[in-house]
Order: sequence, then C-alpha cells, then structure tokens
Amino acid sequence: MKLETQAYKEITNNVTVAGNITLTDGQEYPINAQSYYKLLATDSNRDNRKMCYDKRFYHLINESDKMAALYLQKAKNDDLVTRELNYSDAYEAKMFESYLDEGQIEEMNSVFKERKGAFVGYHEFRRAKLEVDQLMPYDLQLQLMDDPNEVYNYTDTLAEIEASYAGMDPIFGEIFTETVTGNLIDVYPNPDDGKQPGGYCSSLFPLKLSGIIFLNYDGLINDKKTVTHEMGHAIHFYLMGNVVDYTYCGGEEYEMEIPSTFNEELFVDYVLENYDQEIAVAVLDQHIRGYENYFTFQPMITEFEHQAHILCDGRDEISGAELNSLWTNLSKEYEDENIGYYDEDSAGWTYVSHIYFTNNYYTFSYSLSKAITLSLFKMYKEDPQDFNERYVQYLSAGTTMTPPEKLKKYFGIEINGTLFEDAMDVVEMRVNQLQELDEGR
Ligand SMILES: [Zn+2]
Repeated sequence: MKLETQAYKEITNNVTVAGNITLTDGQEYPINAQSYYKLLATDSNRDNRKMCYDKRFYHLINESDKMAALYLQKAKNDDLVTRELNYSDAYEAKMFESYLDEGQIEEMNSVFKERKGAFVGYHEFRRAKLEVDQLMPYDLQLQLMDDPNEVYNYTDTLAEIEASYAGMDPIFGEIFTETVTGNLIDVYPNPDDGKQPGGYCSSLFPLKLSGIIFLNYDGLINDKKTVTHEMGHAIHFYLMGNVVDYTYCGGEEYEMEIPSTFNEELFVDYVLENYDQEIAVAVLDQHIRGYENYFTFQPMITEFEHQAHILCDGRDEISGAELNSLWTNLSKEYEDENIGYYDEDSAGWTYVSHIYFTNNYYTFSYSLSKAITLSLFKMYKEDPQDFNERYVQYLSAGTTMTPPEKLKKYFGIEINGTLFEDAMDVVEMRVNQLQELDEGR
C-alpha cells in the first residue's frame, strides 16, 4: 500500500478513533475525528469536555510508536528523492519551489513566537467569560453564543456580503452581481441526492467568468463567511481570466487564499458595525481563534516536520516518545503558558495528515498566506483608495510574475519580518476590538 494511503487509513480508522466516554448524563459518546471537535465546541459541561480531551490525548500517545515508524519511512523517502535532485533536503526543495528561502520562514516563525503575547488578552477574555480560574486546553474551542443556530436566509446574506464590499473597488460589486445572478452558485445542501459537504470555487478561465461556487448553505453565521470566502476566489479568478492569458491564470498555494481570507476580514468588519453585541462578540471570538490556528498551530507543524526530518535522517528506527517530545517542546515555544497544558508530552502530531503527504511542509502556506492577507488588510484600512487600485492589479496579474515580485511591485512589500509584524498588529487590533465590544464600548 502507498505510504500516504496507509497513513491516511490509520488516521481515519485508528488514530482519531479514541473510544467511548460516558457523559455526565449517562450517555455513551464515541470519540472520532468529528465528534471530538463537536463536543469541545458545543458542550458547556466542563467535565464532559475534560473527559473527551483526555480520552483522545492518551489515545494518541498509544498510537505514536506506530505512526513514528511510518513517519520515519516517509521522511527518509522525501529526503532521498530531493537529494537525487541536488537539493540538500526536502525542506530546501519545498522552499525553492515556493520562491522562498528557509530564512524567510524562520523569520516568520520567530515573529509569531515573539508576539504570541498578542493572544494572551484573548485567552484572558475567554477565561473570564467561562468563569474559570485557569483556561485549560479543553476550554479553547467552546462557542460563546447562547444560540449559535440562528438561521439567516440566503438573499439577506447576499445583501450583507455586497454591503461588506462598499469600501472596495466597484469591480468587486460588479463581479459579485454577475456571479450571484449568473446561475453559478450551487447553494443548498442536498445529501440525499449525493451532494458532498464543504465549499469551494472552481475557475472558468476560458469562459472569462468568475467561477462555479459550490456551497452547503445552512444559514448559520459561519456560512455567510464561507460565501464571501468563495466569492473571493471567484473575484480573483474573474480578474485573472479577463486580464492575462489562460496560461498565466494561477498562483502559488499561499497566494490563492489571499483574496478569500481578505473578504473574511471585510465581513468581520461588517458584523462589528451591523450586528448586536452578542453575535459580534461570538464572531470575533471565533475569528481570533482562527488567527491563533494560522499563527501558532500551522507554522508549528512545518517546523515540527523540518526538525523531525533532521531527527530521522540516518536513523533505522524512531520512537513515538521522541517525536512527542519534539512536538511538545515546539508547542511550548508557540503557546500561551497561562493555559493549563498537561505535563506529559503530547502526541498531537500523529493525526496531522499533512505531515504524511508527499507534498510535505504544506502548512506554512496557510500561515504565510494569512500573514500577507492581514498585512494587506492593514494597508487597506490606512488608505482604501490607494490600496484598491493596487489590489485589483495585484489580483489580475496571475503568474506573469513570481509571488515576491508581485508583492514588491504592487505594494512595495517583501516577505520578511515587517510583513509578519504587520499581520500581528492586525491580530492585536482584533483582540482590542473584542475587549472593547465586550465591555460595551
Ligand atoms: Zn479558499
């Protein structure tokens, strides 16, 4: 069996299937990849959340030796292939293919570590909200809204999204209208007829259209964010498709999510201005949790992969405990030490499917992409008019230039410490907004 397939199978059938717990009301609750997060996000009973967290925490440790053996094999193959191609290792190869160098990603990681304090105020807000003495790892995902299931109809959502583009170049509104009226969006879930979950946007470059958007709109507030996210891809595709030749319609992994996540920022601003306080607090809380994922968890995965490759190099076997220790030590560099993480080494790496893929070192793209988005968003807030002109050209350029050339030409920015500091400034701004909103200011 292909190594990647084998890893995926283990993760799906064993690693994330931690067994049953008995909830405080006597109900038996099976823990798997979905139900684990569902309980942590929705169960206000802290004992239940702790049981759920513990069950998986210790189960992952039990799975770690087996996954370490698989990872060793994988890491050695990665490096072997890339050395045949005259790279020093797989990490260098990945950076080269991404038009980056190792120093840039190192700088990114060190800015995120240095400024992890930006999340301390956010955690303190949650701790007070949940009325606990110390925030524990099983308190981090709980939704804050009393009724998170309020349903909004689709046409109202579209009107709100259109309004959220008010500060953007008029072309945003035009592409939006063309897309929503052009029979290009599959909106509602339809599992009985085999419609799959999720959301995405497929390009239609040769037709010079925005794209076909696939949604599962349930009317939750999060679905609104998904609509504008996919619309970001659609706008990007439309601009490229109408400006550059088909051959140049595309981009690097870390470029493609910029317009979609930029739109999410616009939507969060819209919510802050137009929704009542409780909903705005809940949306902002969830949004900041997203930043935390992008700027702590995702870069840490890439750093783990890099160091794990070095650890595996030349070895014939490696234990789960060694990789657990590596993972935990790195976690400490990224995490807020006020949170009550356990003393035992965590095997959190075992279920991260990206690390077993042939396309390894993938997750830094999420962090880099989000950092570029936020630094552009900072520019937008400072001078929307000037920004808009540059942004439309930037999105239209496709692959006629490399990603760093494009950033330099249209925004004068480079992928270095300043960019990551700018991104963290936006995180701080959002945390301040959350605190002010919560205090009713
Ligand atoms: Zn996307």
